[in-house]
Amino acid sequence: MPAAKTALITGARRGIGFEIATKLLGQGFAVVICDTDAEGVGKAVQSLDKSGQRVMGQCCDVRDEASVASLIQAVEVKFGGIDVLVNNAGISPKHNGKRAPVAQTDVSEWREVLDINLTGAFICSKLVLPHMKSARWGRIVNISSQAARTASMIAGAHYAASKAGMLAMARTLAAEVGPDGITVNCVAPGRIMTPMADEAGEQANAEYLKRIPVNRLGVPADVANVVAFLVSEEASFLTGTVIDINGGSLMI
Ligand code: NAP
Repeated sequence: MPAAKTALITGARRGIGFEIATKLLGQGFAVVICDTDAEGVGKAVQSLDKSGQRVMGQCCDVRDEASVASLIQAVEVKFGGIDVLVNNAGISPKHNGKRAPVAQTDVSEWREVLDINLTGAFICSKLVLPHMKSARWGRIVNISSQAARTASMIAGAHYAASKAGMLAMARTLAAEVGPDGITVNCVAPGRIMTPMADEAGEQANAEYLKRIPVNRLGVPADVANVVAFLVSEEASFLTGTVIDINGGSLMI
């Protein structure tokens, strides 16, 4: 891999995204994080790299094409362009710690989940392609979910549909841009202990644990380590695929 590649991780002020940013920074990437919480982005940048030389953060809503375009312009000025995109930003709405069943899900909530989790990933992918194509090198990784692979006990139908959409989008895009030296892959994490997973509550997570052969819940580093491989030079023959990261709770 040529030196000084730049990685954009969306929704990275905390949780899995922050861990991926930490990992890729440690591997020599310049790292860009975005999130909707401006104060949180500032704090995350500070804790990643106080000098700000190899890290940049910007408040950005992945649903908003203009907001993403302005972020990408700012990255081009500071680092020259985005070589690696990790579509991590996502939501999984709960009501008193539980998903709404389909029969009780508001259309507005359905649209919001699809808009952030799937359309956001589409917008970010679309806007990073010109630089990747001209560089004839690129890596896109979508953070999908086990909910896209089998029925979920915890997430709603909108979340599962959005995460399954990420898998289908990745396959189509991978076929389109493979000749340009760009790979597009997905990971499908099971239960990973983050603020999002906390919302489901201790009991739901304890139930989940009973179904995990390696006998522990996941941690953000479990995801970051796989993403680090997928964005490396060594992974150049992997594209359009999905890697399950779930301690064996789903084996397919
Ligand atoms: P998290 O801690 O809630 O992090 C998600 C981040 O996305 C938050 O910082 C959130 O920021 C940001 N975000 C939400 N809407 C956004 C938008 N419109 N634009 C930009 N950023 C936005 O959750 P996590 O567990 O780390 O999840 C990270 C990814 O992994 C998600 O896509 C999730 O679906 C996926 N995943 C998680 C698990 C798990 O068990 N934790 C399992 C499978 C897949 P604000 O809250 O500040 O808006």
